[in-house]
Amino acid sequence: MNAMSETHTDAETDGDAVATLRTPIVAVLGHVDHGKTTLLDRIRGSTVTEGEAGAITQHIGATAVPLETVSELAGSLVDPTDFDLPGLLFIDTPGHHSFSTLRSRGGALADIAVLVVDVNDGFQPQTIEAIDILQRTETPFVVAANKIDTVPGWNPQDDAPIQQSYDAQSDRARETLDERLYELIGELSEHDFSADMYWRVQNFANNVGVVPTSAETGEGVPDVLTVLMGLSQRYLKDAMAIDAEGPGAGTVLEVKEQKGFGTAIDVVLYDGTVRADDTVVVGATGDPIVTDVRALLQPRPLAEIRTEKRFEQVDAVSAAAGLKIAAPDLDDAMAGAPVRVVRDRSREEVVQEVQEELAAIGVTTEEEGVVVKADTLGSLEAVANALDEAEIPIVRAEVGDVAPRDVTVASTADEERHETVLAFSVDVLDNAERQADEGDIRIFESDVIYRLIEEYEEFIAERERSQQ
Ligand code: GDP
Repeated sequence: MNAMSETHTDAETDGDAVATLRTPIVAVLGHVDHGKTTLLDRIRGSTVTEGEAGAITQHIGATAVPLETVSELAGSLVDPTDFDLPGLLFIDTPGHHSFSTLRSRGGALADIAVLVVDVNDGFQPQTIEAIDILQRTETPFVVAANKIDTVPGWNPQDDAPIQQSYDAQSDRARETLDERLYELIGELSEHDFSADMYWRVQNFANNVGVVPTSAETGEGVPDVLTVLMGLSQRYLKDAMAIDAEGPGAGTVLEVKEQKGFGTAIDVVLYDGTVRADDTVVVGATGDPIVTDVRALLQPRPLAEIRTEKRFEQVDAVSAAAGLKIAAPDLDDAMAGAPVRVVRDRSREEVVQEVQEELAAIGVTTEEEGVVVKADTLGSLEAVANALDEAEIPIVRAEVGDVAPRDVTVASTADEERHETVLAFSVDVLDNAERQADEGDIRIFESDVIYRLIEEYEEFIAERERSQQ
């Protein structure tokens, strides 16, 4: 039986709706510098030949790794006929920050995750944050115990499964790695996860598999893909059944200019289909945007990717997939917000659904307070929570760069301490900066939440001291 073709046959029939199995969506999490980006680059690179890898830097926010590629890479580890899921879809922006931003119907967008931990560095603050999020969202994950090539005496074995490579090492190298891996396994157990080397794990529902990897040399990367495939097949298959012909549902990853098409949104589609003649509702900083699709874009076939136009216009895209949607009026679309196709329901109904989903991501604003701008909904929520804890009220909270209108809002505050804008991981537009200078409005910028709040508090404390 051919597993690839089976994915496109009917898994079950429910009235008119035909269920298809979609690709599981994978997120990569972990502490800064532990190797998330390098691992993703490796995986992305594995879907193209070496020289071409660089050409796809202009990606669309998600990389599909078909089952065929996984099985080619994994060799004897994977028999494609064991699988009927079509492959894996990796979200290209690493980090728990993007993970918690990306929601589908109130849950996490990602179905499964890779937690990257540098074996030399062990658990670090962001590793723990990531673990907490994975635990809270009940997301299955595999640990990539990364940078094994730095273990003294490590001798890479070309293309061998990592278990074989591990067995082939000198006693000294293996003992050093073991020491570090067991430390990691100990840390995981402190967070209530029983973990073991992945080749010893029998039941991935109760145990976390640890895969020694080197994102640098590629060792262990096919093994990570294999474990993800196996985990998905065993534990996520039912959740992957979708009505592929139904109206598309997805999440905005990024809002950006697309040459020749104006403002476009990068979207991860997790359900249904978007067609080039659809009307879509997109969550925005103001009211949801209702707009007609101008073009759907996906990366060109890899063989042609070196050409000027890296994207091709397509008529329809089915879940799960990454795509660009170009349409009029997308300027205020918000990263992290829902995207819904209007097809068999009224626009009003769909708009209401999008509004409800956005409202579930709660930022409470007051009559008076500071203006907050952040790069994504998730970060906006995180900053708002931190401000709430610090008892700093918010008058306006939005995703996007600091614009003149934000400064205008700040300048209408009655209290001096509210004449401020807190900018998290966003730019300040030149004219906004000028206006702030002229009106004596303070703009605090940082991409670390606590630092942003610290700076604000120090400034307020100093101002109060100087006024006494
Ligand atoms: P991120 O912040 O988690 O995305 O980490 P990066 O992927 O940017 O990696 C941080 C640094 O570690 C870079 O200099 C990488 O080249 C290096 N690095 C990543 N993975 C490995 C690995 O497996 N082995 C070695 N030796 N270096 C690695």
